[in-house]
Amino acid sequence: MMIEGRKVVVCGGGGFIGGHLVNSLQENGAAQIRAVDIKPIEEWNQITPGVENLSLDLKDKNSCYLATEGMDDVYQLAADMGGMGFIENNRALCMLSVLINTHMLMASKDQGVKRFFYSSSACVYNADKQTSPDVVALKEEDAYPGMPEDGYGWEKLFSERMCRHFKEDFGLECRVARFHNVYGPLGTWSGGREKAPAAICRKVIQAKLSGNHEIEIWGNGHQTRSFMYIDDCVEGIHKIFDSEIHEPINLGSNELVTINQLVNIVEECAGVRLKRNYDLGAPKGVNGRNSDNTRIKEYLGWEPSIRLKDGIARTYEWIENEMLVLAGK
Ligand code: NAD
Repeated sequence: MMIEGRKVVVCGGGGFIGGHLVNSLQENGAAQIRAVDIKPIEEWNQITPGVENLSLDLKDKNSCYLATEGMDDVYQLAADMGGMGFIENNRALCMLSVLINTHMLMASKDQGVKRFFYSSSACVYNADKQTSPDVVALKEEDAYPGMPEDGYGWEKLFSERMCRHFKEDFGLECRVARFHNVYGPLGTWSGGREKAPAAICRKVIQAKLSGNHEIEIWGNGHQTRSFMYIDDCVEGIHKIFDSEIHEPINLGSNELVTINQLVNIVEECAGVRLKRNYDLGAPKGVNGRNSDNTRIKEYLGWEPSIRLKDGIARTYEWIENEMLVLAGK
């Protein structure tokens, strides 16, 4: 891997994926690691010893110059984001992440950064191709003609294109991965920014602990999705970073499930069966979405492969432990 001896900065290093990435970069021999996040350091999801941690707002141009100073490689994961409950109700805030991406690209170009990794999202895909739960998996070209998720998806699609033009016009080496629903231990599981797998784990655990064996599900439960375990995501980031893939590429699992099937898996972890109440007015995103992995397999001979039931078991255990600690048990 192209990590040994490198000086790297992870933007959004106080977040879920960024925290795991920092850890992995250290394990793989990065010479110097700087992690940057807007959150106060005591609120970061993980703190890795031996890393320079900076609390900075990367919407601010000067902060981006501080973040990139002396660095070989940039991993740009910082974004104001969350699950559907957050992005459907905070479109303007999501779009303001364009300031982070604009200023990070400018600073990287001006300070001679060698390689820039950008974390895009499956939310860039055209909504018209995601109207049925009976999905045809999304190929990279399905992002055009542009009709992404309002707010968050438009910002990601625009920033992908900025990466492309910074390469074409200024020679900045960029790699862009479109993450599809990442989950795992140390992710957000409460507070409004959590995503479906963590939210469902929390609700099932709450039902189990309280003895009130009911669960509220957003939408009718028939929506389909694929979910990628964090270890696959981090491995994919390293592989794409090292590659010669110059266009945006899917990084996602293609194990398609309905939300009802996801609930089944979590119930099995808990050893309970719950009465399901469907909230049809709640934010639910597109009806169906899956990752077409043809291109990543062609380029890398690899694709995410951790089974959902294995990843959920580890995630469930972590969230249950967090909840028991909070409850003082
Ligand atoms: P996260 O919210 O845990 O991490 C993002 C981090 O960015 C947060 O810690 C946040 O405080 C930080 N941040 C926000 N605004 C900032 C600013 N102005 N300056 C500095 N830091 C700022 O989310 P995550 O799940 O770890 O996602 C990481 C990246 O991957 C994001 O860009 C996200 O859009 C992308 N992504 C994630 C998923 C997923 O399922 N988790 C799916 C697709 C794309």
